[in-house]
Amino acid sequence: MTAQLIKGAEVAAHIREELKKGIAELKAKHNVVPGLVTVLVGADPASQVYVGAKEKTSKELGIYSERYDLPEQTTQKELIALIDKLNKNPKIHGILVQLPLPKHLNEGEVLYTIDPKKDVDGFHPVNVGKLMIGEPDYVPCTPAGIQQLLIRSGTKIEGAEVVVVGRSNIVGKPIANILLQKRDGANATVTVCHTRTRDMAFHTRRADILIVAAGKPKAITADMVKEGVVVIDVGVNEIGKTAEGKRILCGDVDFDAVKEKAKAITPVPGGVGPMTITMLMMNTVRAAKLAAGIA
Ligand code: NAP
Repeated sequence: MTAQLIKGAEVAAHIREELKKGIAELKAKHNVVPGLVTVLVGADPASQVYVGAKEKTSKELGIYSERYDLPEQTTQKELIALIDKLNKNPKIHGILVQLPLPKHLNEGEVLYTIDPKKDVDGFHPVNVGKLMIGEPDYVPCTPAGIQQLLIRSGTKIEGAEVVVVGRSNIVGKPIANILLQKRDGANATVTVCHTRTRDMAFHTRRADILIVAAGKPKAITADMVKEGVVVIDVGVNEIGKTAEGKRILCGDVDFDAVKEKAKAITPVPGGVGPMTITMLMMNTVRAAKLAAGIA
């Protein structure tokens, strides 16, 4: 069997068209323009690329966008003061602080300062708790994108054995939690693996749906999956550079070998990645609607 490719880039483009229409309608009917601010501290090249992409997509969709590029030596006090100001700005519905922050800054305190109503990344404890009890305002972007890829590729989630590799707060834990909920697009039986899991292959071989977010190139090999599995590869690993200096990326799954056994699989790049920004835009629109009382 050669797997069907789950092309995140195509799914994301489709959702963006839907969003663009919705945003135009929001403006025409309610005079509401969703606003997103991105805050970048320091000059990490990968973060600059991510922030640039978020700004570009916002503009393409008709979302009002602001961007703050702060110097590496920004203090905790200065950053918190900026977030406080943005919390009070009615033009801004979503605040995104690009992670990771420089080491001298306290990431937890920064994220907890963001008003939960403007926390379009869904990382504030209030939003984490709401997701846990099945009443989310905002679902974190990467896990939300994974769920959409499963739904829109026609994958049966209800009753499926889902195995998640990785337990980070931004991918592993939230996707496990989302697919466990008693609702449409979920209702799965979920197992979460990590570095202390005794026999990971035992679990991965049972998976109907395997979601891998370990950050380890080709950690999942063909002998670790069963025939007909649906694989979502979240990993983004740089394994070298082309002669022109472009990054060569691979996922956490040995794509060429696993695709011969899988029913469907996401490529890297072009799988989960394009969905993450799209879900951020969706959360920003939701934030604007919630603020206007029309959600
Ligand atoms: P993270 O915070 O480093 O967490 C990695 C998790 O994987 C940890 O829970 C770790 O276990 C587990 N793990 C690592 N190696 C393992 C192994 N060999 N066997 C079993 N478990 C293992 O990473 P993250 O932020 O979740 O990101 C994971 C990957 O996804 C990265 O490559 C990242 O770049 C990518 N990512 C992509 C997107 C996107 O939009 N495409 C978004 C976010 C992340 P312990 O907890 O025991 O250490």
